[in-house]
Amino acid sequence: MRAGTERAAATANGGRHVVLVSPYELGRQPYALAHPAAHLVRAGHRVSCIDLSLQPLEDHLAADAGLIAIHLAMHTATRIAVDALPKIKARAPGAALCAYGLYAPMNAALFRELGVPNVFGTEAERDLARLAGGEGEGEGGAGGGADFLLPDRSSLPPLGEYASLILADGAKKVCGFAETTFGCKHMCRHCPVVPVYGGRFRAIPADRVLADIAQQVDAGAEHISFGDPDFLNGPTHARRIVRAMAEQFPGLTFDATVKIQHLLRHAELLPEFARGGCLFITSAVESLDDAVLEKLLKNHTRADFVRAHELLRAAGIALAPTFIPFTPWTTLPGYLELLRAIAGLGLVHSVPPVQLSIRLLVPDGSHLLHIPGFARRLQPFDRQTLGWPWRHADPAVDGLYESVRAWVAESEARNATRREIFTGIWQRACHAAGRDEPPPALSQGDLPIPRMSEAWYCCAEPV
Ligand code: SF4
Repeated sequence: MRAGTERAAATANGGRHVVLVSPYELGRQPYALAHPAAHLVRAGHRVSCIDLSLQPLEDHLAADAGLIAIHLAMHTATRIAVDALPKIKARAPGAALCAYGLYAPMNAALFRELGVPNVFGTEAERDLARLAGGEGEGEGGAGGGADFLLPDRSSLPPLGEYASLILADGAKKVCGFAETTFGCKHMCRHCPVVPVYGGRFRAIPADRVLADIAQQVDAGAEHISFGDPDFLNGPTHARRIVRAMAEQFPGLTFDATVKIQHLLRHAELLPEFARGGCLFITSAVESLDDAVLEKLLKNHTRADFVRAHELLRAAGIALAPTFIPFTPWTTLPGYLELLRAIAGLGLVHSVPPVQLSIRLLVPDGSHLLHIPGFARRLQPFDRQTLGWPWRHADPAVDGLYESVRAWVAESEARNATRREIFTGIWQRACHAAGRDEPPPALSQGDLPIPRMSEAWYCCAEPV
């Protein structure tokens, strides 16, 4: 059944028509709609799901909706939701409105002002069921506590319409999307998970995860992209799932996100993951400047990153590092050094160019505000970008940011190669630093790696 259509068969007498809306989730079929949908259907409600990244609101939002709940998975989704709200209200004026997800609590005041009285955090199944049942307004952080059901993906668009896996040779695979845990046990300062989970994480029972994978394999998935903030927060849990997946679905491949610290600590798992179908691991490296890594409380150093890269390479798993190159502590020599290191490690083809243009985002409630003196560097909160803007002490760094951002956007629009884009970035960085150095040579092993067809941002998004 297509998204936006009603699940008439599941309708129970007396239930409400609940519409779950996902503004954007990086091209992933959203678990955060499918799992609440299962709970709401069990509670006797009629559920429609709308994924605004694939479906126009006008064509899919039924006027008889009793409750509309918008999932805010990320910063970009939040901004899209703010823009969509007037249309949602005009189309279904009688509906109760709710916002939930990682970015909802930190934007609670704004959403209340915009006429959304109910704001819940992540794992909001119980809150949504309570609200759909007509029980009061509320606010929450990480909900938790609800049973884990088999996510109801039946009213979402088919997997083939979402982001796909692109192999190194250009072949494509249909991708499924699964979660094995929520939250994270770490406290990296810039991370949006931290204000909501505060260093806690919760595992989804392995049999539920595997049942969800099975239903996605049945729906055509050839690869599973795990969306956990960190796949190795619970290494035993992760190993159990990878083993079972390899046994039950031979040939199924996967990718996951793992922090550098965990790659080093659980290095013994990597060969087994490779045998179990792991094609690449995304890691939020953020910076190669140890002073910046310290500010962000990343718990890894540049040397750790190099070691993790070696371990993955030895295991036969590609590394897809993500970065936040533009921070208030970035220096022009430091940016050039980042580019040099990426080329030296043979990672030019592994780093999406947009990653070299990411600027540190400071949303409300960010733990970056705990850095002594940091708040003084910020400008007034910007309701347009939903963040606290900052300017670098050296205007040349901000100038380089603007120039790299424009170059990457223009180059990607005309499908320039990563090598060409990297060279252009190098030239701009040299110009800003007043240097005249040729771009670093690419190493022989610097080749395309498997990747998702839609850019993936870990912890930081373009502004
Ligand atoms: S950046 Fe990664 S490891 Fe750090 S708190 Fe966030 S999810 Fe956890």
